[in-house]
Amino acid sequence: MFYKSLNYLSKSESFKEATIKGIASDKGLYYPDEIKPLPKQFFQNLNKLSIQEIAFSAINQFVGKTIPEKKLKLIIEETLSFDFPLIKIEENIFSLELFHGPTLAFKDVGARFMAQCLGYFNEKSKEKITVLVATSGDTGGAVADGFYNIPGIEVVILYPKGKVSEIQEKQMTTLGGNITSLEVEGVFDDCQDMVKKAFIDTEINEKIRLTSANSINIARWLPQMFYYFAGYQKASNFNLPINFSVPSGNYGNICAGLIAQKLGLPINHFLACTNLNDVVPRYLDSGIYNPKPTIQTISNAMDVGNPSNFIRVKKIFNNDMQKLKKNITGYSFNDSETKKCIKNIHKKTKYILDPHGAIGYLGLKKYYKKNPNQIGIFMGTAHPCKFAEVVEKAINEEIVIPKRLNKTLKGIKNSIKILDYNQLKEYLLG
Ligand SMILES: *Cc1c(COP(=O)(O)O)cnc(C)c1O
Repeated sequence: MFYKSLNYLSKSESFKEATIKGIASDKGLYYPDEIKPLPKQFFQNLNKLSIQEIAFSAINQFVGKTIPEKKLKLIIEETLSFDFPLIKIEENIFSLELFHGPTLAFKDVGARFMAQCLGYFNEKSKEKITVLVATSGDTGGAVADGFYNIPGIEVVILYPKGKVSEIQEKQMTTLGGNITSLEVEGVFDDCQDMVKKAFIDTEINEKIRLTSANSINIARWLPQMFYYFAGYQKASNFNLPINFSVPSGNYGNICAGLIAQKLGLPINHFLACTNLNDVVPRYLDSGIYNPKPTIQTISNAMDVGNPSNFIRVKKIFNNDMQKLKKNITGYSFNDSETKKCIKNIHKKTKYILDPHGAIGYLGLKKYYKKNPNQIGIFMGTAHPCKFAEVVEKAINEEIVIPKRLNKTLKGIKNSIKILDYNQLKEYLLG
C-alpha cells in the first residue's frame, strides 16, 4: 500500500517513508491510496480470534512489505499487552476502557505501535530521528513512555504551560534520557503551529531528520482502529446495531474507527462528541467548516480549535456531505453538563467517568432519544485520576491512583521553557 498526500502535490510513499516523514513535503497529511475490505468470513469468525490476531489482519495491508510479518506480529504483541474492558454503565450503554496502558491514556496504543515501527525502520541507520510532538495533555505522556529508550530516536515534546494536569506533566517531564519536554507560553494550537512550522523549515530539515508523533503520523493514527474491533467483538453477542461514541479533539481516533468500518467492520453509526471546541459538530449541522481559536475546558485533551485529522474524515467519504452525515452525528457539551454527568453517573452507578468519557456518554444519551434499542459504546479515553481535581469535586470522593503511577509521581519535573518558534528552532539546531 502507498500513501498519497491530501494536498496532492507530493509523490506517494510507502508505510515506511510516510512514517519516517510524518507529513508529506507539500504539508499534506498522508492517506492510504486504496483500502481493501477484509473478507466476510473474517468478520463471521471474529469471536474466535484474539485481539492480536485481529489487529494483525486489520493493519497488515497498511504496513505492506515494509515490516516482515513475523516482526509485525511481535510489534502488535508488544503494543497490545493490556486489555480494553467493556464495562456496562446502564442498559445498552457501555464504556470501552482504553486507559489500561502504561500512561492510562488511549494514546498508549498508537504511541507504542509507532515507536516500535520507527525503531525498526531506523535500526540500521546511523542517523538519529527526532520525533517532534505537540500535546494538549495525553499525547505527551504516551509518546514519552512509548519512545523511552528506543535506540536512535530523540523525542521533543511541546506542551502548553499550566494547561495540562499534574500527572500529565509528570509523565512527560520526569523520564529524561531521550525525552525532552518544552513548556510553551501559550495554548495547544500554538504548540501545534510551531510543530507544523518546524516541519517545513528548510534550515531545520537540512540538519536533522524530523518526524511527528501526533495522530497526523499514520503509524500513530492507524493502530487506533484496533479499539473498534475490540469493542465490536465484545458487544456483538447482543445482536443489536453497534454505535461508537468518540470523545474527539484532533479526530484521529474517530477517523481510525471509520477506517475499521471501511475494512468491513459493521459499525452502525459514529458519534463525534466534543466540548465547546465544536468546529466539527457545527460543520455537520451547517456544512460550514469554520475553525476557531481554542477554548479552554475541563476536557482539555479535546481543546483543539482546528482539528488536524478532519481532512481525513472528509476524504473517507470523498467529501460527500450526505454520506458523512449518514455515518456521523456531532455533539458538543459544555463543562457544566460534563460535571453534572460525572456526578449523576457516580451517584446512580458508582462508575467514575473522566470528563472526556462523560462527553462520550452524553452523546449516546442524546442519540438514543431518537434511536432507541441499539448498543452504544463510548470510548473511555482516559483514567479519571488524570483529571482528579475536576472529577473529585464532582463526585465528592477521592480517586484511587493506580499503583503503577507512583514512580512517575515521585519523579522530578525537568522541562525547558520556550516563548516562541525561534526558541524552538534554536533548541532543535543547538
Ligand atoms: C487525545 C484525547 C482525545 C481526543 O482524541 P483525538 O484522536 O485527538 O480525537 C480524547 N480524550 C482523551 C483523554 C485524549 O487524550
